Amino acid sequence: MTPKEMYEMLKPIQEKKGYCFNPDYEWCLDVIEGMLTNKARYGYTSCPCRLATGERERDKEIVCPCVFREEDVRKYDCCYCRLYMSPEGAEGKRPVPESIPERWLRK
Ligand code: SF4
Repeated sequence: MTPKEMYEMLKPIQEKKGYCFNPDYEWCLDVIEGMLTNKARYGYTSCPCRLATGERERDKEIVCPCVFREEDVRKYDCCYCRLYMSPEGAEGKRPVPESIPERWLRK
């Protein structure tokens, strides 16, 4: 699967759940490409913005969408990788912080 194909597959599924992609399409493709690289490397789509351990059990919190997405999007309008956003964040109705604090405690 290419990043573009994955983008198209995920978009309607995630929008139904209330999550939008970052309006910067190229950014999204880069993040998704990292996810696909991790899938080939580890066998699961671990977060491309974090250094995975390579052990599924230890990385389970950061398999995309990570367990932190919901709270980060609620609090910051954006996930840690800036891939997923709230509709308000994506539409520029609310400012998105420059960076999102890391909350994953690598085990
Ligand atoms: S931070 Fe975003 S891209 Fe990374 S795993 Fe979480 S939801 Fe996916």
